Amino acid sequence: MGDVHWRELHREVVDTGLCTGCAACVMACPRDVLGYTDDYLPVQIGPGMAADQCVIGDRGCDICTRACPRFRAWETELDTALFGRPRDPSTEVAGVVRSVLLTRTTDEVIAEVGQDGGLVSTLLVWGLETDRIDGALTSRIVADGRGPFDAAPFLATTRAEVLATAGSRYTYSANPLAMQAAEEAGLRRIALVGMSCQASINGSVEARGVNKYRRRIALTVGLLCSKTFTYDGQRQVLADHGIDLADVVKINIKGRYQVWTRDGGYQEIPLKLFHPHTRPGCKLCPDFAAEHADISCGGIGADDRWTLTLVRTARGEEWLQGVIDAGLVEARPGEGDPVAMSLLTKLSTVSRRRWPTAAVPAPHTAPGLLPST
Ligand SMILES: Cc1cc2nc3c(=O)[nH]c(=O)nc-3n(C[C@H](O)[C@H](O)[C@H](O)COP(=O)(O)OP(=O)(O)OC[C@H]3O[C@@H](n4cnc5c(N)ncnc54)[C@H](O)[C@@H]3O)c2cc1C
Repeated sequence: MGDVHWRELHREVVDTGLCTGCAACVMACPRDVLGYTDDYLPVQIGPGMAADQCVIGDRGCDICTRACPRFRAWETELDTALFGRPRDPSTEVAGVVRSVLLTRTTDEVIAEVGQDGGLVSTLLVWGLETDRIDGALTSRIVADGRGPFDAAPFLATTRAEVLATAGSRYTYSANPLAMQAAEEAGLRRIALVGMSCQASINGSVEARGVNKYRRRIALTVGLLCSKTFTYDGQRQVLADHGIDLADVVKINIKGRYQVWTRDGGYQEIPLKLFHPHTRPGCKLCPDFAAEHADISCGGIGADDRWTLTLVRTARGEEWLQGVIDAGLVEARPGEGDPVAMSLLTKLSTVSRRRWPTAAVPAPHTAPGLLPST
């Protein structure tokens, strides 16, 4: 990457609002001098440091910039590393794909707890039980977070733990931070489940030779994502509708915000009420479709119990074929659901317009960024 360090990363990505809070830099920092704030931003741990100053020295190492999936010409670099070419912006608005399918688990327990078709949890359980991975970076609800129903990174190493993490929470959880627990446990083959921004780490470690994590991440499953909400904002809107987050058992978003409560209650709330509470790190994110994952998963199908599945890489294809051959997942062509296909294009197009240039999709031309080295 040349002569680029924390100072450049901070000025070009954090200061400009392009940082999504994915925590790739925190995960990859070999000196462990980066921490993570409650506002989902990377920060130097050393006392009395200027925000853009690295404890190790301005000319320390460049691993943080290399791991960052929003640094400079990231999109072209990541596309080229993973797919052998940049995307064609006129036809590949949702990124490069090998196939688009609708999938659902055949495992009745996972079908019950999964958010949509339960594909993500089925892949993780199969990977653990067939010794393809030692653990998975996921997200779970924690009791000691900002309050009830808060999501936090979690390392899952058993079927029971995967089941406990299934489903979606619409606040942000920087799952790559769970890599620390994996490293402390000496685990070597890890699946990363992450929002679209986090799934791009799959490409940054490949494109820029962050070899430790390139080897360690055995599969990346990306979650389609328009945005996440702030914890306090979500809590406030629910309270305005007479719902205490402590009573919530499930949330889903299907054009409207759906919420289920412990007493068996169900309410729908207009999604527009949540938009003012969009988490800042999501506001400039152009990636709806988890465009650098091995497999990207979403819930925009006409039928709620299927996962819209975009297979992007050879290893994604291998994993999906593995769970299908094992009889754990059913699949049908995505084209069979024109509503899902059209929503995929529409939502991807909307997200791409967020990037500062409004150009689709050339992030490396964003004003204020230095030319690629
Ligand atoms: C914040 C958020 C926004 C989303 N927005 C969209 C959208 O706009 N359109 C769309 O089609 N799909 C969206 N999805 C994806 C969708 O909700 C499902 O996750 C996806 O369809 C996979 O379903 P599944 O049944 O296969 O997954 P499951 O088997 O239920 O597994 C879900 C996985 O997601 C992880 N997870 C849950 N919440 C979070 C979180 N906050 N951060 C990180 N990881 C988490 C869990 O740990 C689990 O591993 C969103 C998901 C999230 C978390």
